[in-house]
Amino acid sequence: MKKLTVIIPCFNEEEALPIYYREMSKVMEEMPEVDTELLFIDDGSTDRTLGVMKDLHILDARCKYLSFSRNFGKEAAIYAGLKNAAGDYVAVMDVDLQDPPDMLPKMYKILEEEGYDSVATKRSTRTGEPRIRSFLSRSFYKFINKISKTEIVNGARDYRLMKRNMVDAVLNMSEYNRFSKGIFEWVGFRTKWLEFENVERSAGKTKWSLKKLFFYSMEGITGFSVAPLSLASIMGVLFCFLSFITIGFIVMRTLIWGDPVSGWPSLVCILFFVGGIQLLCTGIVGQYLSKTYLETKHRPIYILKESSEGELEK
Ligand code: UDP
Ligand code: MG
Repeated sequence: MKKLTVIIPCFNEEEALPIYYREMSKVMEEMPEVDTELLFIDDGSTDRTLGVMKDLHILDARCKYLSFSRNFGKEAAIYAGLKNAAGDYVAVMDVDLQDPPDMLPKMYKILEEEGYDSVATKRSTRTGEPRIRSFLSRSFYKFINKISKTEIVNGARDYRLMKRNMVDAVLNMSEYNRFSKGIFEWVGFRTKWLEFENVERSAGKTKWSLKKLFFYSMEGITGFSVAPLSLASIMGVLFCFLSFITIGFIVMRTLIWGDPVSGWPSLVCILFFVGGIQLLCTGIVGQYLSKTYLETKHRPIYILKESSEGELEK
């Protein structure tokens, strides 16, 4: 019998967990041909999330859990889940039912019958989301796809089902700055995309603020493109070219009409403009340097505090 592990990252989800379990038990009944386990990751929750996971584990041995020593973020939780998943098939799913569990049997069938290595999902709509957030998201996807060779699919969810070979490939990418939407694309393999309409959260509230999303997008850009780094060189060449023309022009003008002292305002404008460009370029280099710095420290991506399996794996 094939084994399926479902990874569910949870951060302060005491209300959503029981609802999720109820829905998921129905789905598991629909798939008697596969041995399913639910691997909950408690990402340093401060409410009763871990308590609820323990209750579920006692109630149903198919529910397992890992608990982090603090909040490491969803990306770390996904990595921990993949690392500890025993299944031949592995799924990643949110606990708030925004990733419809009833799609899972269909996704499983596609992998079994159509020879794909992975089934991924994306939202066809963004209803229920603030306008400004949708706009910023769309702009981010447009921008990153212009500058990155790895395609980052607009509206892609982390909800997907993978075969073991793909999971092992993802685990081989043990980078510290993780951006799953890029990583899943980067490893390749044949992926089928399914679409579904956006649904509202079952309970609790979203953990993503605009600030968090901004830093997440920076993760994506620095992780999957080095194009911003070439901005300094491009600007440099452009400005050199421009300065030659300007110097020629000024020399000619002085020779023909003499040199009445004026042009102070334009000089200051140019000074500010060039200074700004220089700082921008230094800042971009700084972004990449800071990521490299964190990468070279080789810190663990997550630290486990306890788990349902007793013996802790690293
Ligand atoms: N999550 C997590 N760690 C975090 C933030 C979120 O494990 O630091 C989990 C969260 O519990 C949920 C999933 O990631 O299962 C998606 O989070 P959320 O629903 O808040 O994001 P949204 O759906 O609004 O993008
Ligand atoms: Mg959600």
